[in-house]
Amino acid sequence: MKIQAEQLRQFLYCPRKVYWRDMARIPQRQTFHMEQGSLFHSSLAERNHQFASGINTFRELHMESEALNLKGTADLVVEHENHLMVAEYKHSLPDPPPKGYAIQLAALGMLAEEHLSKPCTSLVFITQNGARISVDLISELRKKVIETIRQVSEMMERGTLPDPTPHRARCRPCEYDRICM
Ligand code: SF4
Repeated sequence: MKIQAEQLRQFLYCPRKVYWRDMARIPQRQTFHMEQGSLFHSSLAERNHQFASGINTFRELHMESEALNLKGTADLVVEHENHLMVAEYKHSLPDPPPKGYAIQLAALGMLAEEHLSKPCTSLVFITQNGARISVDLISELRKKVIETIRQVSEMMERGTLPDPTPHRARCRPCEYDRICM
């Protein structure tokens, strides 16, 4: 079974989040941040309009790769003649973004490269207030994507409850805080 790009971000936040949601199938408690994110995504059609001139745009583009053992859906892929731009919409995000977010976006960029057979030269987060946060798809980031796919895959094959994150402050806003400890 292919790993989802979004699972890479969750895994880097805490492997147990992937375990509870995708292996134990325990539904996520809706948090304030998740509600804000859903509201923001519902306004995407209007925001995407600015990209629609003289270039190909793909919204909610689903992509899968056997070679990467990966699948994912990009909020927006913009196809120029010789290169691609991949964007994700987030309600808010610091600059630079947390590692897990950068890995997820890089994974979507790598999927887009294979899907459309063009190099991805631009990765960007677009936030609700219009900020654009760029991520460079450098070779170290590509290697980290591959390595994280392998780690998530191995965890799923083991099937056992992974250790909790050592960063215990992450548990406070976590959807699984009530069942995890
Ligand atoms: S409560 Fe903490 S250890 Fe448990 S899944 Fe959430 S972040 Fe991980």
